[in-house]
Amino acid sequence: MNFENKYYEFRDNNLNPRILYDIFSVLFGVRKMGLIHIPIEKLDFIQKQLTEFNLFEVAKRYLIISKDKESRENLLRDSYDVVNASHVELWFSLDEFINIDPFKNPGKALSYPECCVKSYESNLGLSNFYNNYIFSNDTRYYKLNRLVVLFNQDLMMPDYFPCSLSCQASSLLIDKCNQVVLDKFPKEINENINKIMKSPLLLWGENLIYVPDWEIKSNNIILQINSNVKSQKLKDIFLINEKNILLLDKKEPKLLKFNHLLDLENLYLNFSDQSQEMYKLKYT
Ligand SMILES: [Zn+2]
Repeated sequence: MNFENKYYEFRDNNLNPRILYDIFSVLFGVRKMGLIHIPIEKLDFIQKQLTEFNLFEVAKRYLIISKDKESRENLLRDSYDVVNASHVELWFSLDEFINIDPFKNPGKALSYPECCVKSYESNLGLSNFYNNYIFSNDTRYYKLNRLVVLFNQDLMMPDYFPCSLSCQASSLLIDKCNQVVLDKFPKEINENINKIMKSPLLLWGENLIYVPDWEIKSNNIILQINSNVKSQKLKDIFLINEKNILLLDKKEPKLLKFNHLLDLENLYLNFSDQSQEMYKLKYT
């Protein structure tokens, strides 16, 4: 099978090829089970794909999309009848007769780290995750940088919310997945997604700002403020905790501390009109 072509086949069928990340991690033994959420009209396509991969559909439920009250995320809840369903949740495995009820403990069935499963179970809604992802003082792993899906569709990790972007167990899981997945994706796609996940994120006042054109020179980080920059208002993404509101600073930008952006001292903003601003670097 030509795995690279699968990427384009999914994209051409208007399905995010990210789904293949989950499929490959199960097909090549990192995890026993995988899960896909798809619009109901894509069910036929996915079922055919699973058959081609020699994977078995082991559980399924029908869902209706609804809005999370405290974040920008959409939530999927059970649909009582198939007719009204907008989405399908499909569970798959290499083992046709797998002896796990995935609905009992979905996070565990998907081999997510225990710390992340626990924190997901104790959080209602997703705003607590975002508060932690953006305001934590710990060094984050860029390979866990799921904040970039606020600005792009692409992501190179299973589709879940780690307990934090510094979660070591999640980092290990993703290393294992990447080992079997990356060589099945087109090289230029890997490079592009890697670039996206490494893009610096600035917290400036109430805005989260994504800057894809940047470089590090000695201990300076230089950000190009051009038309590729994207930004989102935090309040459009999630409900900010009161104690975090106090940390918002309108005057100066703060750089989210990721492991590939450590020990920097100055932040330069280069604007399209050739002007430049310099700040002593502050991390969040
Ligand atoms: Zn964790």
